[in-house]
Amino acid sequence: MSIPPSTAALPKSVDARKLVQREQQLIGILPHESLERLNAAVESIDGDIRAELQFGRDLQGHLTVSGKLHCDVQLECQRCLQPMPEQVEAEFRWGIVWSEEQGKALPKNLDPVVQDSDELNLYQVLEDEILLNLPMVAYHEQECVARDRFQFGEKTDESGEQRENPFKVLEQLKGSSKKS
Ligand SMILES: [Zn+2]
Repeated sequence: MSIPPSTAALPKSVDARKLVQREQQLIGILPHESLERLNAAVESIDGDIRAELQFGRDLQGHLTVSGKLHCDVQLECQRCLQPMPEQVEAEFRWGIVWSEEQGKALPKNLDPVVQDSDELNLYQVLEDEILLNLPMVAYHEQECVARDRFQFGEKTDESGEQRENPFKVLEQLKGSSKKS
């Protein structure tokens, strides 16, 4: 997925009706400082949060926004408590409605987004998308930075045989599955 580079900030709020009429496309960045909930949920946000939005209508006449966003963050690994990078790549399709009730009537392929006043708070809805795409718990995928603190192997048991290092066994398994 690629989003064209842009240095312009997205508008904080928009009237979706007008943008649908114009079949407007918006490309821009989401300013970090306006995303309090995301800032609270992650260790840090790295670089620009880029988003691309296309307003329009589907064949049934629903007001829709097709979009994608890209965001790099650091999460705290729940095993070693060190930061770990996480890349959020989200694609979404919103159906713009004016009440929760209307949202329930939307087809399944549209996520209801309620514009309950003159304008839709775009930053808030995009922040929701990022939060939805963060993992519930974060762990370093391969090995924790602090893994070396826990050394396995090297010790010998009563029979005098050297114990296998569990990580080495894992590497061997991975190696042999690649060959076959
Ligand atoms: Zn870790």
